[in-house]
Amino acid sequence: MQQEPAVKKTLYWCNTCNVPLIGRTCGCGATGESIPLNKPYDLRPALTADQELITRLLHERFGPVPVPGVILLNKTGGLDRYEMAIANGGRFGWLSFNPVTRRHELMLLPEALPFIVPYAKKGIIEIPPGTGDDEDGKSRRIGGKKVDVSTSEPDGPVIVRYGNRYGTGVLSEGSVRVRELVRVDPKEVANSDWGEVIRRNYDRLKDLERSAVRSIKQEMKNFDHVNASFSGGKDSTVALALARKAGVEEAYFVDTHLEFPETYDFINSQQVQVTLDGGDFWPGVEKIGPPGKDNRWCCKIVKMAPVRRWMDTIGPVLTVQGNRWYESFNRAELDLLSNNPANPNQTNCSPIRSWRAFEVFLYLKWRNIPYNPLYDMGIERIGCWLCPAMLEAEYEILREKHPELSDRWDAFLEKWANDHGLPKEYVRCGMWRWKSPPPKMRELAKEMGIPIPRSPDVEHLPQRREQRDESRTERRERRTLTGQIGRIKPSSEERTPLKTWSSKVRSTSNNDSKKAAGHREKKERR
Ligand code: SF4
Ligand SMILES: [Zn+2]
Repeated sequence: MQQEPAVKKTLYWCNTCNVPLIGRTCGCGATGESIPLNKPYDLRPALTADQELITRLLHERFGPVPVPGVILLNKTGGLDRYEMAIANGGRFGWLSFNPVTRRHELMLLPEALPFIVPYAKKGIIEIPPGTGDDEDGKSRRIGGKKVDVSTSEPDGPVIVRYGNRYGTGVLSEGSVRVRELVRVDPKEVANSDWGEVIRRNYDRLKDLERSAVRSIKQEMKNFDHVNASFSGGKDSTVALALARKAGVEEAYFVDTHLEFPETYDFINSQQVQVTLDGGDFWPGVEKIGPPGKDNRWCCKIVKMAPVRRWMDTIGPVLTVQGNRWYESFNRAELDLLSNNPANPNQTNCSPIRSWRAFEVFLYLKWRNIPYNPLYDMGIERIGCWLCPAMLEAEYEILREKHPELSDRWDAFLEKWANDHGLPKEYVRCGMWRWKSPPPKMRELAKEMGIPIPRSPDVEHLPQRREQRDESRTERRERRTLTGQIGRIKPSSEERTPLKTWSSKVRSTSNNDSKKAAGHREKKERR
């Protein structure tokens, strides 16, 4: 049996073409330089909203500096959005969202300085010569130290200059904490764009497609009934496209009635044959309380149960789906075929399990396959609009784009918090998203004076395990955030009354259910 490739922990970059590579060799023939990635090693292209956000943060701070045309984002654990931006062949900066101040921040890394310093019109803080010298005039390192400065620059990430060296730092109330200082030599790189990235990765994209289609075709032979599961997210969009190439004719979608309006529009454009009714989430939530990242009771009710009921009526099925190793640690050992313990009739086939989000988006762009517009609006994980697995950075987008939805959920959460003696901030900082909040969030809550309800899960969690689960990055970020806690302002604005949201999808979904029933009847007759 052929050995599965190991999880890739680095990204290769062709410095000649200035493009990221799927493999190690570029289409130009050069070998890429490796860039280490952070766990769980997934990375994705910066899409429209990400690119606009990075441009805004750079320009607000440093003036009209050039912004790389190809940026990749490597997500890692943090209090909320926390991604390493990679560009121009190296680590560029940390992009994060602060759930307390509700603001994004871009902390440059030293590798980015040669591309920013020569063009920066502001945001550079001079450290006076001799700073850090000891009494004998002996020079000491100031990297890692906090230095008092006189500047009119606003607080936040800055560039510092000390003699002929530059570094990054965070300015806060008249002092700057200096990170590493380095010499900055001007660097030239080729201009690149996503078209160039696709051209230079063409052979690898073809290989990925060929191998995925071949494996679906191979497994299809063993089943009478084959379909593709489609959720409207990027992974299932690719899985559906590959399944159709392999000859799969049926796709199904489970309507939780909690999808974003954009997702419904997208799904309606994709000729999905079967829509399963996920039932009503709201009576459950009134009784059980909000779902949590560690308590996804709703998935069982509104997603898994309808599929099981349907498959009980049709017998053994092979389902092509878009699960990937890099999505989470739970999926890191997924095989091509896996049984679904919740649904004995369903065998899952995961042809893109070894793809990263980078390959997924590159494939979609290469094949001109339309994808859910929410990605270009800044939503990274597509599912129910109130899902606890979403980041606060994503809720912020929901609040802006669909206040009628977020108002309904905020009103529910605030009432639920009130009934449980919890303050509004418990909801506004996203603490409700855990039944048993992890140490990083518990610490934040403690600093903010937010009580966390006792839960059996919390009581039984060994202390050492809790401490081990917090990464260095998370600890560093939490320390920064807890320094800002005093500035949080409980929201006092009046919420607009709940508007009833109805979408054409309801009638469409009924039509689709009828279509599904017709489809089943036809199959049975055959
Ligand atoms: S996607 Fe999130 S909100 Fe929707 S059913 Fe699953 S856990 Fe619940
Ligand atoms: Zn190249």
